[in-house]
Amino acid sequence: MKMDTILSGMRPTGRLHLGHLSVLENWRRFQERHNCYYMVANWHALTTAFDDPGLTVEATKEMVLDWMMVGLDPEQSTIFVQSEVKEHAELHLLLSLITPLSWLERCPTYKDQVQQFREQGKDITTYGFLGYPMLMAVDIIIYKSNLVPVGEDQLPHLEFCREVVRRFNHLYDKQVFPEPQPYLAEVAVVPGLDGRKMSKSYGNEIPLFSTPEEIDNKVRRMVTDPDRIHKHDPGHPDVCTVSQFYKVFNKVAFPEMEEGCKKGEIGCVACKKGLTKALIDYLAPYWERRRGLEKNADLVWDILNDGNKRARRQARQTMEEVRAAMGFEIPGSS
Ligand code: SF4
Repeated sequence: MKMDTILSGMRPTGRLHLGHLSVLENWRRFQERHNCYYMVANWHALTTAFDDPGLTVEATKEMVLDWMMVGLDPEQSTIFVQSEVKEHAELHLLLSLITPLSWLERCPTYKDQVQQFREQGKDITTYGFLGYPMLMAVDIIIYKSNLVPVGEDQLPHLEFCREVVRRFNHLYDKQVFPEPQPYLAEVAVVPGLDGRKMSKSYGNEIPLFSTPEEIDNKVRRMVTDPDRIHKHDPGHPDVCTVSQFYKVFNKVAFPEMEEGCKKGEIGCVACKKGLTKALIDYLAPYWERRRGLEKNADLVWDILNDGNKRARRQARQTMEEVRAAMGFEIPGSS
């Protein structure tokens, strides 16, 4: 029997990259022990990409194929699309009525993100973007999730969610929602090719579903120790992107590589070749699986349609409790 309920999601941005892999491998493990909801967060995508809505359908398909390639199993998990469960919107409205504006305004990422987008020439100071943590809270609690996989940086959002839950349960004197707890699962972080955070917007990513040639090309572009000019110069693996990848994808060879680099006994070309091979060995079984999945053109839509139904069932049940707690159920309405 699965004890806990977990909700997690990703924005549909198309092909995922290696920075997502560790998260997905955790999701795959969770589904063996927990009741998991994995959500295509397409409304979340629109909080910043509101001017590009058409992209999300094809991006949804690509992303769900990537999820399944890593082993998400629709028999074990509910895989669904946020916008197909309209109850999220209703609960968002109702909770917005009881949530002080200051709780949203103090979310630490709000001002940072507004500033980042402003530097790219885009104004995202919309009502919807300010309410983004509320939408996240709704996604979690409408399925009565009691565990949420988060990184340290997302803890303030989860705390916001817990505050909203406490306020709702207190105001209406009903324990409709559990207070979700953080699930600080270990996530292996890999940098982008240039050493910054891996992100499509920086153009420094390695796609998860790739080819050996693409991997080879990307690894060749990786930034290494800038002070290492000649092959026999002692290197500093701690400042080298390649070395960060070894730690995740070639743990066995890492100590020897690290020592060889520091002593100037291994050149960057050979070091990169070792990484390319390790990455291809690691990813090839996933690629093969994805090629198999792609043969069935309707597969993703069938899985999502089924998942949407299952998600709706739970969301509707929760909303009946919410309406009853708030006291505006109309007798006889269905
Ligand atoms: S030998 Fe490897 S770890 Fe050292 S600087 Fe070159 S690529 Fe980086």
